[in-house]
Amino acid sequence: DELPAAERDLVARRERLLGQAYRLFYERPIEIVRGEGTRLYDADGAEYLDVYNNVPSVGHSHPRVVEAIARQAATLNTHTRYLSRGILDYSDDLLATLPPGIDNAMFTCTGSEANDLALRLAKGVTGNQGVIVTRNAYHGVTTEVAAISPSLGGENTVAPWVRIVDAPTGDGSEFVRQVVAATDALRQSAHGLAAVIVDTVFASDGVVPGRHLPGSPGFLAPVVAATRAAGGLFIADEVQPGFGRLGSWPSAARTSTGTGTGTDTGTGTGSGTGRAAHDTDFTAPESGLWGFARHTIVPDIVTLGKPMGNGMPIAAMLARRDLVDAFGAEMRYFNTFGGNPVSIAAAQATLDVVRDEHLPQNATAVGRYLVSQLTALAGTAAEIGDIRGAGLFIGVDIVDAHGQPDEARTVALLNELRRRHVLIGASGLANNTLKVRPPLPFSISDADRFLTELEGALTTLRHQRRSRPSA
Ligand code: PMP
Repeated sequence: DELPAAERDLVARRERLLGQAYRLFYERPIEIVRGEGTRLYDADGAEYLDVYNNVPSVGHSHPRVVEAIARQAATLNTHTRYLSRGILDYSDDLLATLPPGIDNAMFTCTGSEANDLALRLAKGVTGNQGVIVTRNAYHGVTTEVAAISPSLGGENTVAPWVRIVDAPTGDGSEFVRQVVAATDALRQSAHGLAAVIVDTVFASDGVVPGRHLPGSPGFLAPVVAATRAAGGLFIADEVQPGFGRLGSWPSAARTSTGTGTGTDTGTGTGSGTGRAAHDTDFTAPESGLWGFARHTIVPDIVTLGKPMGNGMPIAAMLARRDLVDAFGAEMRYFNTFGGNPVSIAAAQATLDVVRDEHLPQNATAVGRYLVSQLTALAGTAAEIGDIRGAGLFIGVDIVDAHGQPDEARTVALLNELRRRHVLIGASGLANNTLKVRPPLPFSISDADRFLTELEGALTTLRHQRRSRPSA
């Protein structure tokens, strides 16, 4: 389609004013002016299904979040060096969803700052410099976290103190082997090991949610053990998976974190607790809010961002009290906007909505439906390879006739879906993994619309290839 003059002007202005480093989505860029729930609307009022956005996680322009922001903005918004109850109430509420031991919260405005702070803390406390990351990891934009983000520019762009391991596949055993080798190598180097940091759903590496087997630790458990044995800290980057995206699940984390009852794995014969297997107890350490909990591990540091304020710039680093104390004894911390009253109001309303609207449960139900329907579609669509997912974070590999990653077809698919008013993105080392990551209120009928358009788009591309054999 020819780009209309108005859009051409906007693209040109953007290039002139913002410069070359910015990238737009789509061959035919789109001007989104309004959002509601799982829908987006362009400047002409046309409606789109959002299968991409994890930041407005409880839905675009959620009325409870909007109201909380407006009310607080009309009352007070200032820096964070006065006493304020809101930030303490929210911290209490948030920390109660994490395992005992993760007792402190420090607030920032972006996930990048949260990871930057986590690295500063890890390096300060361990006295070491070395950091282990995955091959296509992205952890943010500051100089320090860009230096641990190979997805920005490849191996040559990471710092000398960084070691890269392949992202997990299969049961994760090769990943564990590589991490253990890298921790040994760093321990023996002058850098030492400060931290292993992983996005616990491996979003930029192509989505690897890990397997949840109630009561059995996932592949991150031996990684955490090796990290600590080498003197480092384990940082769970929850910027992508956090706040319920991966759905709810029963878990035996309660026994392993030592709080006691171990009665509610959902696999026993007794129904004494009265809890359905899919119920999520948000005050228990096995809360379905966090990606790391799928692995039955307790990280040393947890970083949060994106969905935390449903679009307001709020992020956080959570950590063990002893680590924060050791850091605080050396250093003071002040972040002008981090955790300001309006951001906290947004974050509190967002967390309330996640709970009250049972969004992790919805993510589980709709995610399961999507995986089963995508698997059925893969039976007739040879372009669909592996499908991996948990909750409403599903990776769908797009492959060529030999089963190899097909980036060109993936990009064509994104553009064809956009033409069909379905917005979705891709990730992975070969950029051939469709990233199904919609706002959490995504419904079964939203899923059906997506599946219909996906099937239609694949068919359209097949016909185009046939009529343009040289393409
Ligand atoms: N960590 C991960 C895993 C991310 O995906 C991102 C953002 N894409 C960040 C950190 C950085 O967050 P922000 O853009 O808020 O700085």
